[in-house]
Amino acid sequence: MVDYQTIIDKIVANSKEATERGVIASYIPELANISLHKFGIHILDADRKTYSAGEALEGFSIQSISKVLALAFSFSLVGDELWKRVDVEPSGDPFNHLSLLELENGIPRNPFINAGALVIADVLVSHLENPKEEFLRFVQELANDSSIRYNEKVALSEKRTGFKNYAAANLLKSYGNLRNDVDSVLDLYFYQCSLEMNCKQLTDAFYIFMNHGTCLREKSYLNLTQVKRINALMLTCGFYDEAGEFAFEVGLPGKSGVGGGIVALLPNTYCVATWSPGLNPKGNSKLGMAALEELTTKTGHSIF
Ligand code: GLN
Repeated sequence: MVDYQTIIDKIVANSKEATERGVIASYIPELANISLHKFGIHILDADRKTYSAGEALEGFSIQSISKVLALAFSFSLVGDELWKRVDVEPSGDPFNHLSLLELENGIPRNPFINAGALVIADVLVSHLENPKEEFLRFVQELANDSSIRYNEKVALSEKRTGFKNYAAANLLKSYGNLRNDVDSVLDLYFYQCSLEMNCKQLTDAFYIFMNHGTCLREKSYLNLTQVKRINALMLTCGFYDEAGEFAFEVGLPGKSGVGGGIVALLPNTYCVATWSPGLNPKGNSKLGMAALEELTTKTGHSIF
C-alpha cells in the first residue's frame, strides 16, 4: 500500500525550502502578481480517496490545461472527424510557435499548441449555441462542482495582449481551417484559458481520463479509444517543447499551464495536480515538475 499522504507532505515541506523556484509568467498583471511561494498538491485515486497538501484548495488560472478539456468536449461532439483538421504529432516548439502551422498547410501539429487549440475552439463554436456557457457547464459537470468560474479580468487581459493568438487565428482562417469568425473563436479560447480552478477541482475534472471516459458523476462522455488518444496526446504533446523531459522525469500523461498548474494521471490508478507559479525556461512549473518526479519515483506509479 503506497502512502500518498506521507509522500506529498514531504514534497510540500521540501518545496518550502526550495531556493530556485522559477519565474512567474508576466505577460498579464493577473498572473504576474501571484506569490512565488504558493505550492499545492492533490491526489484523487481510483477508489476516490483523496490526499492533499499545501495550497491545494486555492484557485489559480489553469491556462493551457483547459486545452485538454476543450479537446475532450469537441472530440465527444464530432469524433474522429477532428483529426482532419488537427494533427497528432509533438511539435518540439513553444506553444505559440507559428511557422509549423504554415509548413503543414493550415493543419496545426497537435491540439495543444495554440494554433491547434484554436481549431478545437472553432469546433466548439460551430457545435454549441452558447459556447462559453456550455463549455463552462461541461467542466463543472466533469468536476462535479458548479462553483468553477472564468476569471473575467484574466480573459480580458489575454484579449488585450494576445497578438500571437490573433495572428494564429488569422493564419488558420486564411487556410480555411477556421469555420467561424476569428473574434468568436478567440473569445472562447481566451475565456477557456481564464478558467480558475484549484488542484482538487483539476483532479476531479481529469478523473474521466483515468477512468475509461466516465466522469465522477458516472456519466460517460468518451469511449475507451477516445480516452486512449487524449492520454497519448497528453504524453507526447502536453508540455510544450519539454514533453520528452516530462516523460523522462515523471512518466505520466499530463498537461501544464503558464499559471503554474500541472495535472497528470496514471490510468486506473490516480490523478494528481500540482500548483507552483514559478516556471522553468520552457514554461512548465519548476517545482511542480520536481514534485511529480519525486512522487512517481517514490511510488513507482508511472506508466513506465
Ligand atoms: N493563454 C496564454 C496563450 O494562449 C498562455 C497559455 C498557456 O498556458 N501556454 O498565449
